[in-house]
Amino acid sequence: MANSPQLRMQELQQILNKYNYEYYVLADPTVPDSEYDRLFNELKQLEQKYPDSADPNSPTQRVGGSAAREFSSVTHSVPMLSLDNAFNPEEIQKFVARLQDRLGSHDDIEFVAEPKLDGLAVSLVYQNGLLQRAATRGDGAVGEDITANCKVIQDIPLSLDKKVSLEVRGEVYMRKDTFAGLNRKALHDGEKQFANPRNAAAGSLRQLDSNITRKRGLSFFAYSLIGPDFTTHTQALQILQELSFPVCIENKVVIGVSGCNDFYEQLLQKRDNLDFEIDGIVYKVNSIALQQKLGFVSRAPRWAIAYKFPAAEELTTVQDVEFQVGRTGILTPVARLQPVAVGGVMVSNATLHNMDEIERKDVRIGDVVTVRRAGDVIPEIVNVVLAKRPKDAKVIVAPKNCPVCGAEAVRVAGEAAIRCIGEISCPAQVKEAIAHYAARRAMDIDGLGEKIVTQLVASEMIKSVADLYTLQLDDLVQLERMGKKSAQNLLEAINASKQTTLAKFLFALGIPEVGETTARSLAQELGDLAEIQSTTVEQLLTIRDIGPVVANNIFMFMQQPHNLEVIERLVSSGISWDVTTTSTDNLPLAGKTYVLTGALQIMSRGEVKDKLQNLGATVSSSVSKKTDYVVVGDDPGSKFTKAQDLGIPILNEEQLIELLKEGN
Ligand code: NAD
Repeated sequence: MANSPQLRMQELQQILNKYNYEYYVLADPTVPDSEYDRLFNELKQLEQKYPDSADPNSPTQRVGGSAAREFSSVTHSVPMLSLDNAFNPEEIQKFVARLQDRLGSHDDIEFVAEPKLDGLAVSLVYQNGLLQRAATRGDGAVGEDITANCKVIQDIPLSLDKKVSLEVRGEVYMRKDTFAGLNRKALHDGEKQFANPRNAAAGSLRQLDSNITRKRGLSFFAYSLIGPDFTTHTQALQILQELSFPVCIENKVVIGVSGCNDFYEQLLQKRDNLDFEIDGIVYKVNSIALQQKLGFVSRAPRWAIAYKFPAAEELTTVQDVEFQVGRTGILTPVARLQPVAVGGVMVSNATLHNMDEIERKDVRIGDVVTVRRAGDVIPEIVNVVLAKRPKDAKVIVAPKNCPVCGAEAVRVAGEAAIRCIGEISCPAQVKEAIAHYAARRAMDIDGLGEKIVTQLVASEMIKSVADLYTLQLDDLVQLERMGKKSAQNLLEAINASKQTTLAKFLFALGIPEVGETTARSLAQELGDLAEIQSTTVEQLLTIRDIGPVVANNIFMFMQQPHNLEVIERLVSSGISWDVTTTSTDNLPLAGKTYVLTGALQIMSRGEVKDKLQNLGATVSSSVSKKTDYVVVGDDPGSKFTKAQDLGIPILNEEQLIELLKEGN
């Protein structure tokens, strides 16, 4: 009977109970939600198939975890339930059909669609307008008293304008930027990082010392009200807003299955631009009379469902770890993963940043890991599932030599990075350096893409960027899939790149940590290449944006004979710039600061940034009182709201294009 469904049901119960404890009590789960959901559904289906073997205490019949003993317990006046889940449109269709069956009507049902906030539920009880008691959901019937901790959350009102007695329920969550800051600090202080904003919120709210909670900067959204009279959920949300509770604005009344699915598509598009994490959408029957008619089952109401988004975290296996050589010779470990769909995209690689990160997370080849892909961020390994570690998991050792050129790989003192010392003799570094040099934001050589650079370096036609200017038509046509016309176009583009600006040239050289802004400051302040080559670290330190590390990098770069030789060859091949255009003081947008947010339709962000900077403006990544204009595209993020709060003038894309025309 080893494989009997009954044994599997018992096993699943045990595993899910363990995961529940880790998630709800310890706020430190070891597996991603997607894995939990899979096992939960497997158990639910087995229980439906073998109802006689189903345990009434199964995790499928219960809400959450139990209340921890450290907190005093609170009995909820009305149970705090969980939600049933749907994972695809068919399940939504079945849900709606179930409701229509129960209601005995095939009329379209009106729902309120709300983001499923990825935090934890709390209940707030107010008496005569004063916050009396706050509690976690606990097991649904009994929660933990966390009044002191909720009182330090800015979004939660301590007193209301009206002396009313009522209960408000909602989600305590952590904003994405607050979470990133918290983890940066933890890394700096050598403390454990949180896996995701949900765990950070749970860990921060269930603290015995509310001073710790205060420092964590939690947020709150209300989504449910008990006490006052209302006939629809929409009205309840309105009352909550009138009482000054924050209600998430991303909600909408939708009709029937198609309304639910349309809203899903819309919110899925917005997901990455929201300030907070959501893991799906909750659809709630809008009419309270219908809600009451439908009632609830053991752990969830019948009148609501959570339609989950593709999971942002998944389980997979590390098949290998390779080291990639970057432009400045830094070797970055990259985990090769068993391909897995994360957030709707197949992921087969994840960055491991550096050896410190590998040691801290104790990642080994063969390990089962949680991989996370949120928004456009490069996928990363969150943690190792130690319980699933195979006996032959292989420890990752730092390479002693560069995997590309074989030169020594050294760990730079005081840095986590390992660097190949091959510099310009390392083809990987040369390739990256040439690609960087040719990039649009640098020398802008049209047609010199990664594939051609790889061929040019592999065939040894070029060993440094200076060799680009000695390439001949006869050389280029030998390259794979390079016709005569394309070769001519490329030579013309290379030739055209000779006319540039000093700032672009400095950026193109690829001096470690000298980005566009620093290159521009250098060009503006020193104005002349010879001046930059002979400057001292002390002089460099007086320049805007330049600190000790960057000053030292620039100084060292300009001391290396091989770099000087390349620069000399570039200049003698005809590269030049107009020295009088270096200063931006007289440019039309000099002194003005712009911030961009949301998706632009006509121009790319890079183009806009370039154009604004060419007109003398500064383009900043965050909104502050010093911002002059915020350019807003589709689905703008928090910068838009902040700009409105601060009363900063807003430009749409058309207005921006007009401005750029005037500037020219
Ligand atoms: P749930 O998160 O699926 O749904 C119920 C909860 O949704 C509510 O309690 C509330 O906190 C939240 N919610 C967010 N926005 C809401 C809104 N607008 N309206 C109403 N509620 C809203 O259910 P659950 O019982 O809290 O947790 C189960 C889920 O937790 C699982 O599906 C799994 O993903 C995760 N989990 C993971 C582990 C693990 O080990 N990784 C363990 C246990 C549970």
